[in-house]
Amino acid sequence: MWSARDLTIFGRAMILKTLGLLQLVYSASNLVVPKGTVDLVKTKLFRFLWRNKKDKIKRSGLYQDQDSGGIRMTDTNIMFKALKLAWIPRLITSDKSNLCSIPNHFFLREWGRANKVCMYVCNYDTKHFNDLPVFYKEILDNFNELKNLYVFYQKQDIILFNNKEILIDGKPFLWSVWFKNGIISFKDLLHETGNLLTFHAFSLKYSCKTSFLQYYQVLSAIPKHLLSIAKQSVTFKKSFFTSKDDIFPLNESTQINFRTARSRDFYRLLVSRTHTHAHTGPKRWGEKLSIKKDSWTSIFKSLKSICKETRLREFQFKSIHRIVITRRELFKFGIKTDDECLYCGCEDSIDHTFIECSFTTSFAKKVII
Ligand SMILES: [Zn+2]
Repeated sequence: MWSARDLTIFGRAMILKTLGLLQLVYSASNLVVPKGTVDLVKTKLFRFLWRNKKDKIKRSGLYQDQDSGGIRMTDTNIMFKALKLAWIPRLITSDKSNLCSIPNHFFLREWGRANKVCMYVCNYDTKHFNDLPVFYKEILDNFNELKNLYVFYQKQDIILFNNKEILIDGKPFLWSVWFKNGIISFKDLLHETGNLLTFHAFSLKYSCKTSFLQYYQVLSAIPKHLLSIAKQSVTFKKSFFTSKDDIFPLNESTQINFRTARSRDFYRLLVSRTHTHAHTGPKRWGEKLSIKKDSWTSIFKSLKSICKETRLREFQFKSIHRIVITRRELFKFGIKTDDECLYCGCEDSIDHTFIECSFTTSFAKKVII
């Protein structure tokens, strides 16, 4: 129905978001999305956007903000991920409700609000969580992806629990007794001299129930390279892992508030780091007209304010991305019999029409005057 309407590319993108994707939000946030669905949805969306024709602008460019030259088209894959990530604040804030019974059963048990440590911060790999339902695995996998995109590093690799590099019988471990006694990282098992505590010294320092065997199992599981990191880590912030603070710093400049973050916040965080490629069209204009890279932001921004007429805005958008059709393209597609400029008869192209053609340049001059 909507395809029949003569909408601009902005209008079509808006329709896709409000009427199309919105219908998937509820199920995608509550269910595991089957494989292949993302590609199927993407194909349908872009087919509508380009009116059943081939893509003319790279998708990763269209996903970007208007100020970066995109149209804020929704990346379905990231949208599904963000919907799953939105469960983290829900699970953290409604700790004791039925909503959390499954993750609590797998992760928390006696941990209570210390869940931040065991679930999100540590150096986990979900392949070790065999019994965990796929839905929750996806939440954790997506969060790992987010941490990697923002190069999150708080020395989580020296945390003992749920660490993919410290395996006892092929599995990571999680002992709440140790956590409650303040044993969190390898550093807590080190003597002032930098050597590992003997079992005797360990028992004296921490009065928690641990057998000789358990203790040495842990020690033998610690890889040497991580142990040397622990020895050198003077600035290790233990409080970061024990605090119940809702603010989660992904890096020095980006934070997530675990109490208030919603799926659109996660979506923005993911998109802004995933789609950063430069646009092909503006790059070629830049080479042709020697436009500096920093001037593009203001050119992209001008699209919003340049005029109210959406058709003209669409034209401006198309010319920025060099997808305006001239005689050259029409000739190429076999629609016209020659590729000569309508005004001067020279060989036509985007560059000819907008820069070289004497007729259009004199027209532009007149308009400016
Ligand atoms: Zn011409």
